[in-house]
Amino acid sequence: MPEPLSPAELLRLDREHVWHPYGPMPGRAEPLLVESASGVRLRLARAAHGQDELIDGMSSWWSAVHGYNHPVLNEAARGQLDRMSHVMFGGLTHEPAVRLAAKLVEITPEPLRHVFLADSGSVSVEVAVKMCLQYWRSAGRPGKQRLLTWRGGYHGDTWQPMSVCDPEGGMHELWQGALPRQVFADAPPAGYDAAYADHLRALIARHAGELAAVIVEPVVQGAGGMRFHSPAYLRVLREACDAHDVLLVFDEIATGFGRTGTLFASEHASVSPDVLCLGKALTGGYLTMAATLCTSGVADGISRGEVPVLAHGPTFMGNPLASAVACASVDLLLGQDWQGEVKRVEAGLGEGLAETARLPGVRDVRVLGAIGVVQLDREVDMAAATEAAVREGVWLRPFRDLIYTMPPYVTNDEDLARICRAVRAAASAGA
Ligand SMILES: *Cc1c(COP(=O)(O)O)cnc(C)c1O
Repeated sequence: MPEPLSPAELLRLDREHVWHPYGPMPGRAEPLLVESASGVRLRLARAAHGQDELIDGMSSWWSAVHGYNHPVLNEAARGQLDRMSHVMFGGLTHEPAVRLAAKLVEITPEPLRHVFLADSGSVSVEVAVKMCLQYWRSAGRPGKQRLLTWRGGYHGDTWQPMSVCDPEGGMHELWQGALPRQVFADAPPAGYDAAYADHLRALIARHAGELAAVIVEPVVQGAGGMRFHSPAYLRVLREACDAHDVLLVFDEIATGFGRTGTLFASEHASVSPDVLCLGKALTGGYLTMAATLCTSGVADGISRGEVPVLAHGPTFMGNPLASAVACASVDLLLGQDWQGEVKRVEAGLGEGLAETARLPGVRDVRVLGAIGVVQLDREVDMAAATEAAVREGVWLRPFRDLIYTMPPYVTNDEDLARICRAVRAAASAGA
């Protein structure tokens, strides 16, 4: 083992050399140094504002649904580690990836039958887009190559995903002229509005000749603004897509695996897509892995084309270690009363955040499944809000006008109450 570095030395090297998400170089705010994590707690190498442990209110960006250092997931990783961490997927296959793909087909809506295992959510969206464009090319309709989405979405940070992120939050201004130009509907209202449904139908009809697919996050828009909408819009999209020969892609990278109260958010509307993206909680937050599923119709269409292959193959495709942990994570989730746990978290957040709605500067408080959101009437003072949460012993990562939490499902009632106190403190300090 190399000589351990002191916290001060690590933070100096971090500042000098390491990019952090959405950050400048060198970073402006000093990150907290995490030494280890267990259950729902992050242990800090150096106490911050009197706390050396923080309850993770973020599940490491939606992913650590079972908490950290889970014995079952650790065992799955160790067992696979002793067999092999990785082998290439071209010309080779292995049990962890085969089991995972079969499992995903089994638990997702019926018509999805084929699985592409990618190495991150953004890549799974790139693959979804490639599938859709290639499907129409193979069908002799190469003009169908644009995407339609609604505003307020987030689909990742690589090129195609960026082009369907919310044009205001996704730095479209900066990339004007460089990104593919997609078709944007207005952001979906929270409740069902017949006029908005007509707006969706009309836009799909008008652009049908050039549209390869509609891509949306069903029910909850995550990093694009933490907005919830009526599941009925998913049926509107399904019908309009079917009527006008447009494929439908659901990005459930954030909403998948129970977060909204159903295993997949599309189940709120009993609608299934032609292509589905999964990620984030897929490995219980252990390793980077994502999946793009498609129907036989899409796969057959591609395979009948002039170029009858899907030209995509990441080096770490189907990584055995990540696949084995993903299998264990899905089994762990389905082997327990996950619906009961998500309902319990939903009730805890609902109760704990109710008061927050009365704070000055708070515009809206909303809870769905294991997601709690406090929206301010202005941009959050991020440093002040983060510090206030840390003082309460909780890790939160506010952005724009939002202070939000999506805790691990295993968070107990006491810790949930503490997360809610921290959200309230962050809303007071950050407004
Ligand atoms: C996080 C996220 C992505 C991108 O996933 P990465 O693994 O960060 O590339 C795409 N879509 C949605 C809905 C997400 O929440």
